[in-house]
Amino acid sequence: MHDDMPNHTSFAWRDKKWFVDTPENKQFPAAINLPEPFNRQESGLKHAISLTGEDGMFGASSGGKANADALYLLPYLNKGITVKDMHEVRNISHDDNGYQVNVRDIQNKRDYSIAAPKVVLAAGTMNTVKILCDSQDNKTLNLMPGLGKGFGTNGDCMATWKPSGGQYNSSLGTPVHGKLVVDGQADEVTILSAGIETPPMPAWLPNMLKNKVQDTGGNFQLVAMAPDDANGVVKFENGRLKLDYSIKENPVFEKVFSALDKITTQTGGKVKFDRKTAMTAHPLGGARIADSDREGVVDGKGEVYNNPGLFITDGSVLPRATGAPPTLSIAAWSSYVASKIIEKIDPQLINKPENKMITAIVTYKPDPSKTMEDVNNAFKNSIPLFSSVRGLKKKIYCFDEEAFQGTSVYLWESKEAAEACYGSTTFQEAFKKSFGAVPEITFIPALQIVEND
Ligand SMILES: Cc1cc2nc3c(=O)[nH]c(=O)nc-3n(C[C@H](O)[C@H](O)[C@H](O)COP(=O)(O)OP(=O)(O)OC[C@H]3O[C@@H](n4cnc5c(N)ncnc54)[C@H](O)[C@@H]3O)c2cc1C
Repeated sequence: MHDDMPNHTSFAWRDKKWFVDTPENKQFPAAINLPEPFNRQESGLKHAISLTGEDGMFGASSGGKANADALYLLPYLNKGITVKDMHEVRNISHDDNGYQVNVRDIQNKRDYSIAAPKVVLAAGTMNTVKILCDSQDNKTLNLMPGLGKGFGTNGDCMATWKPSGGQYNSSLGTPVHGKLVVDGQADEVTILSAGIETPPMPAWLPNMLKNKVQDTGGNFQLVAMAPDDANGVVKFENGRLKLDYSIKENPVFEKVFSALDKITTQTGGKVKFDRKTAMTAHPLGGARIADSDREGVVDGKGEVYNNPGLFITDGSVLPRATGAPPTLSIAAWSSYVASKIIEKIDPQLINKPENKMITAIVTYKPDPSKTMEDVNNAFKNSIPLFSSVRGLKKKIYCFDEEAFQGTSVYLWESKEAAEACYGSTTFQEAFKKSFGAVPEITFIPALQIVEND
């Protein structure tokens, strides 16, 4: 699939030998399929994104990209939720009935309060900490002694790289092109390559300036990350940010800088970055999960210490840096907190995970031109690929040499996961190439499993 994506790092630089080969299964997913039960129409996504045309990192005028608001909120608008757009939460007050969320309606320049028995705060790391600091300073929330601790930048370092010896257009493809790995790079360091899109420019701009801006399309943005010590402190005093965080006190940056320097020496294209100023697209912590209110702000279920009924579901709770793009970790936490809130309100409302596991029996007769060695090699080569397939719990390779017939038994988390794998062109093409055959697949629900050590 990634072969179709311009600039995708698993193949874009393969002729250059600059980077360690990073196959598709070691990459982050470049795109996420629309989650069930949302469909394209409901989500506002009109059609597939063009990876070679004008669609790029700033969006797609064709409607080929949708943002998370459209994907996740739109379907629920039809089910009765209310979204108050252009409203800014200023602070939160606790009273006998629960909470008052004090908001500013920006469009109509009006301040008012919304009462709620429970509140879930998800304003992002900086804004959640700001709202909590304001509320604590105004004594509208009970004291949170651990507020502000554990802030980190995820070890981020933004760099630009102009590859030598060619004209490249980095804006093509998905916004993030995938991971780049240089020889000797520390395991903790993740470097992503991203596109730089030339913004639309007004006609009156002198050509010299236009050319200068357009030239940036040949640069690639590199975003390096690594788990820092999350040892910073973030505070807001009278609404003003006070940040105590230093690159020097986070030794992991040496590894980040060294990896970026290696790209310069390896590729001959200068990687430019600032070694002194911390800069992040992934601020994390400040209202972290901890065992006590001294060390953090929320407990293991996301509820704010000393302020029952107030929950946090954004990056501010992460107790450690992910050292990688953090969105899915934040989403997983949010989903967990939501399930805990629902469970507390009414355990019956939680859909107990029904046993959806499925066994798939895959049988095939390899083409007679294949030898037993071919079969064994195909098995060996496929192990790393299957190790990272989503939803696959177990796979057993069986082969009857006498009948020259193969049977593989898979245990999947769900039939959807199994079908996504078997239906993919990657699976079908790899199978055909390995065995010269088309498999027969039978599904049987897995009801009970015994596992011995
Ligand atoms: C340019 C860029 C690229 C990135 N690329 C990636 C990537 O490829 N992969 C990845 O995993 N991560 C990426 N990230 C990081 C990712 O966007 C964040 O880590 C993630 O969105 C944080 O989620 P959150 O829920 O904590 O906060 P947010 O996503 O920031 O959500 C907070 C929301 O609260 C709203 N809000 C804030 N204050 C208030 C207020 N006072 N009242 C009302 N509403 C408020 C905001 O408008 C926002 O909608 C990127 C970040 C940037 C800046």
